[in-house]
Amino acid sequence: MSKRERVVVPDQAEMRQQVYMTHIRDCQEAHRQQTGFARRYAIETYGCQLNENDSEYLAGLLDEMGFIPAPSVREADFIILNTCSIRQNADDRLFGNLGHIKRLRQDRPDLVIAVCGCMMKQSEHVDKIDKSFSFVDLIFGPQDIYRLPEFLYSRLIESRRVYAVSDEDVIIEGLPIHRARRFRALVSIMYGCNNFCTYCVVPYTRGRERSREPQDILKEIRGLSADGYQEVMLLGQNVNSYGHDLPDTAAGPRDFTSLLEAVARIGTFSRIRFMTSHPKDISDALLDVMSRYTCIERHLHLPLQSGSDRILEKMNRRYSQAHYLDIARKAREKIPGITLSTDLIVGFPGETEADFLETLNVMQQVQFDAAFTFQFSPRSNTPAAEMDDQISAEIVRDRFQRMIDLQNRHSLASNEQLVGKTMEILIEGSSSSDDQVLSGRTSCNRLINVTIPDTHLLPREAVDEKGRVIGQALEGKLAQVKITKAKTFSMLGEMETINT
Ligand code: SF4
Repeated sequence: MSKRERVVVPDQAEMRQQVYMTHIRDCQEAHRQQTGFARRYAIETYGCQLNENDSEYLAGLLDEMGFIPAPSVREADFIILNTCSIRQNADDRLFGNLGHIKRLRQDRPDLVIAVCGCMMKQSEHVDKIDKSFSFVDLIFGPQDIYRLPEFLYSRLIESRRVYAVSDEDVIIEGLPIHRARRFRALVSIMYGCNNFCTYCVVPYTRGRERSREPQDILKEIRGLSADGYQEVMLLGQNVNSYGHDLPDTAAGPRDFTSLLEAVARIGTFSRIRFMTSHPKDISDALLDVMSRYTCIERHLHLPLQSGSDRILEKMNRRYSQAHYLDIARKAREKIPGITLSTDLIVGFPGETEADFLETLNVMQQVQFDAAFTFQFSPRSNTPAAEMDDQISAEIVRDRFQRMIDLQNRHSLASNEQLVGKTMEILIEGSSSSDDQVLSGRTSCNRLINVTIPDTHLLPREAVDEKGRVIGQALEGKLAQVKITKAKTFSMLGEMETINT
């Protein structure tokens, strides 16, 4: 896409959505007066943080139109499934869930059901929904989220089903947002991807790279600072290529390193995170900025995918093993204590045992602190799905297990070296298994479950009359924690002090 072809949602289109929004709001008010209840919504989100951020915009639009969040999908009047097409298991989950929702719809014909997101950009999924789940009312793509008021108008006022999946590479500004967390804000800085890794559907589902104007991003982030958010997460499929497509008129930081530094300089955030980086685009300047500002996370997620140069070329990743190792070395040198995490794919077409051993070799050299490991999942219409040297499931399973075994040893060893040390965490709330244990992350993105030896350490509002800890009241607070035990995917600790 050339610099001049950027499309920002035009004013007229925004105004049209405002009109639909007003109609739906009136319709909602009439419904509330008739029944005594506001209509409720539930959004199920699959996949990455970019999808989570899209769902926050969908929720913001629904709030604006007078809907309220439902406690569960079962109790909702409007259900949205925001899909992901990155791997086969995400596809399977969608169709499994549609099967459950079909039964809900049989009992409640007025239930409105929408499916949106990346999967809707692939015609075979839309055809399957049309054939087997024809009760779905609204189908729209990731570039069409801002048109939700119009789609609801069609369904609620005109009783029409909607199919709207556009290829227009829009940038959406100014939409209302309902943030899922009180302390962490997700901020998409760019959309789409130009890299065309041969296994990946993203460039086909989310379109070409387009960066938001720096002033729009910084305005949003200054607002988050004023609202007291502790953590901001900058999102893009490849944040390191931020700004390449900006028009010459764009004012402010025009590359990712400068943008990250501008966010760090705001000075109020405890944590600034970013996701995802591409090894071919990481610069020394970025590592230097990370080392200078302690509010920027001590963590780099750098997808390796394969350690074999031959497979990296087949994947169209455009870096070599040597280049990757060089970045990892520099990151560890420049930023002491940094954690390195990665994504790894096993069983890419044509992967030989020697190629696989190269991946294990890189794992040994880098000693990743964490890794997301995946078995190759052929995605329709991608070049890799058509390659004729697919690997047998048995070989893939065997290599996958060996990779997991190695990574688990590295993850555990990485955590074990911290036992006995005191670390600062940002509290995210109660742990999922015990509401009297808090859960939080270090700046280097390690998950720590924390016991509280004495509730007198906590502010009064975080302890109920029975002396029980109210985890929600501590979200976003910083605490000093002594690490007592290392596990593979998390650590245990004991609270020493908390910033109140
Ligand atoms: S960089 Fe590659 S893997 Fe990542 S979104 Fe773009 S095409 Fe997909």
